[in-house]
Amino acid sequence: MLEGKIAVVTGASRGIGRQIAVTMAKEGAYVIVNYNGSAAKAEEVVKEIEAAGGQAEAVQCNVSDYGAAEEFLKNVIAKHKRIDILVNNAGITRDNLLMKMSEEEFDAVIDTNLKGAFNCIKHVSRQMLKQKSGRIINISSVSGVMGNAGQANYCASKAGMIGLTKSVARELGSRGITVNAIAPGFIDTEMTAVLPDDVKKAMGDQIPLKKFGTTQDIADAAVFLASDRAKYITGQVLCVDGGMAM
Ligand code: NAP
Repeated sequence: MLEGKIAVVTGASRGIGRQIAVTMAKEGAYVIVNYNGSAAKAEEVVKEIEAAGGQAEAVQCNVSDYGAAEEFLKNVIAKHKRIDILVNNAGITRDNLLMKMSEEEFDAVIDTNLKGAFNCIKHVSRQMLKQKSGRIINISSVSGVMGNAGQANYCASKAGMIGLTKSVARELGSRGITVNAIAPGFIDTEMTAVLPDDVKKAMGDQIPLKKFGTTQDIADAAVFLASDRAKYITGQVLCVDGGMAM
C-alpha cells in the first residue's frame, strides 16, 4: 500500500514506533527509523526491515530540540528529495500525582510529546506543501481523550496533540496533506510493562474487548491512514483502544 513512499517514524527504536516502521517497510515504504538514545536497537530495526527485503536507515535526533529536528529533516529531504509520511510517535512518561509533580517532569513530557510533534511538523510542512501531498500521523493516546490520574503532564501533551492535529489539518488540507491522530489504548510495550499487575488488571477490566492491544494493532491503523485508502480522512482521532474511550 505504500510502495515508493518515504516515511519518517520518530521514536522507532522500540515499541509502537518500531512496529509502525517494520509494517510500513513491509508495505513498500523506505523508512527513516528515528531514535534518541537507543542506537543499537534502531540498527536492529533496520536489519529486521532489510532481512525482510525492505529499505530503511536509522537516524538519531532528539525531536524535542527545535534546531536538531530542523537539521534532521533537512538532511532527509536533501537525501530523498521528499517526505511522504511523517509519524510523530516519540513519547515519554514521567507519571506523578499533580501535588507531587515537579516542573521538570511536566516540561520534559510536554517538550518530547507535544513540542517534538510540532517541531517535526514544522520542518516537513514546507516540503509537503511543495509536493502538494503528504500524510502526517500523530500518535496521541486515550489518556489525552479521557484524562488519567497521575498523568496530568502526559494527558495534557496528548490532548495538545489532538488540537495540533485538527489545526494543522485545517491549515494544510487545501494542499493535499492529511493530518490525523491515532489514540492507542493500553498496548503491550515497555511503557506499560512497568505497571504493577494489579494496575494492569484494573485497566484491563475497563476495556470492552477485555485485553491490551498489540503494537501491530496500532501499526495497521497507521498504514491505513498513510495509504491512498484514507485520502478523504483528515483531522480525525482514531481510537485504537478495544472500545475503552467510547
Ligand atoms: P516506548 O516503548 O517507551 O518507546 C518510545 C520511543 O520514543 C523510543 O523509540 C524512544 O527512543 C523514543 N523517544 C523518546 N524520547 C525521544 C526523543 N526526545 N526524540 C526521539 N525519540 C524519542 O513507547 P511506546 O509504548 O512504544 O509508545 C510510543 C508512543 O505511543 C508514545 O508517544 C506513547 O505516548 C504512545 N502511546 C503508548 C501507549 C501504550 O500503551 N504503550 C498508549 C497510548 C499511547 P530512544 O529509546 O532512542 O530514546
